[in-house]
Amino acid sequence: MNLACRRFHQTQLCQSSLCLSWADSISDPVIIMHSPVGCGGMNMFKREYFFDGPDKLRYVRTINTNLSETDVISGGEDKLREAILYAEEKFHPENIFVMMTCVPTLTGDDADAVIDSAKNEVKANIMPVYCAGFKSKIPASAYDALYHGIIKTYFKEKEPKNKLTKKNKRVNLFSPSSASEADKNELRRLLEMLGLKVKILPYYTRAEELQEMTNAVLNVSICATHDEYLFSYLKEIYGIPYIIKNVPVGIKNTSSWLMEVAKYFHKEEEARKIIEEETDKLKRALAPYQKILSGKTAFIHGGEPRSLATADTLEMLGVEVLGIEARHHDRFSNELLEKRKNNEKMTYSVAIGQPFEKANLLERMKPDIYIGHNGQCVQPAKQGIPVQPLFYSPNNYMGFTGVFERARGLARMTRNTQFYKNLRENLRLPYQESWYKKEPFSYIKSGETI
Ligand code: SF4
Repeated sequence: MNLACRRFHQTQLCQSSLCLSWADSISDPVIIMHSPVGCGGMNMFKREYFFDGPDKLRYVRTINTNLSETDVISGGEDKLREAILYAEEKFHPENIFVMMTCVPTLTGDDADAVIDSAKNEVKANIMPVYCAGFKSKIPASAYDALYHGIIKTYFKEKEPKNKLTKKNKRVNLFSPSSASEADKNELRRLLEMLGLKVKILPYYTRAEELQEMTNAVLNVSICATHDEYLFSYLKEIYGIPYIIKNVPVGIKNTSSWLMEVAKYFHKEEEARKIIEEETDKLKRALAPYQKILSGKTAFIHGGEPRSLATADTLEMLGVEVLGIEARHHDRFSNELLEKRKNNEKMTYSVAIGQPFEKANLLERMKPDIYIGHNGQCVQPAKQGIPVQPLFYSPNNYMGFTGVFERARGLARMTRNTQFYKNLRENLRLPYQESWYKKEPFSYIKSGETI
């Protein structure tokens, strides 16, 4: 049974957008969208920070091969080759990323062959990214596509340069683009308290740092959705063990994440002490916010591990979670889901996009708080529900300090909700009243696959 299949669909995220968020962040890139002119349109006006370089804020250079109907018949390989050579001649970049979108994937353009033939004329690293949006209903598979490209393009050595021993203590911390600088600093702080050397990857890095990925003693994930493909490769080929445990969001999950890393280095005692001290301080700081939030209700939307971990945090603050909408489901969340499986008061759904379902659910539940991906907070706000982004670049929501920020932000938001009431009174969503009377999941094709 595939419960992701619906008789009616609204839009969903394309893999290419997730791949672009990584490619845009790497040092000195040119992005080639091998596609008709629409794909990657968002990159045209994007400016990106590259944090440790002299060019702090820059425009992202994007070239589109502008595939036409004729190219669908006769192939777009010549245009791709031309775009690669143009990128080299015009910008002399360090990295060229070729985004293989739906059209050239369907027509069978051979990007690998084009890249091979252009290599002798181009100094830049050229990395293909196979990110055709039609291939998956799970946009998170973009991370596999991305890591496949990184492995093929940047991993030159077939074994680590330094002999890997636990004394080396370098750990790679893989942070998704949705982790803010404050989140990374918090997680680095915790790992450094264990005496570890931390290298944060794979966003905002230089090409040579991508190559250095193979020289760590341990790979640590903070979001299972991202890293399994790459970690399995690094283990199989370079013998580097890894930890994919959960998301360090909330006291319980941050503690178990830290303990898991500590176990590898036999530092459980140190970790226990850190956790105890951090939890103690935090609980005292949270007390005033718990009073404000206790008895409120919430709905959460986002990546599955993060949403579930955020639900744990809210419950610890005294908030009842009425519903969670996860972007996809996989086995890494089974442990976090386990304790909720008999909770009949809570609705758990899996939907990437499909705001019509969420509108229906929220109209029934009327939660006091909505937490979701920032791009998807507008609709609940129009329904009169106070919203808070699940993550947002200036905010901290990971680690121990992240719990405090979440609580403080929610308490501030719920103090005065008049803005959201005004929105509800003055705006309406595009759905007819009859939709709200129907069962929210009535378009899911139960028991069928496509
Ligand atoms: S789904 Fe395909 S056509 Fe649409 S933006 Fe993504 S790659 Fe382009």
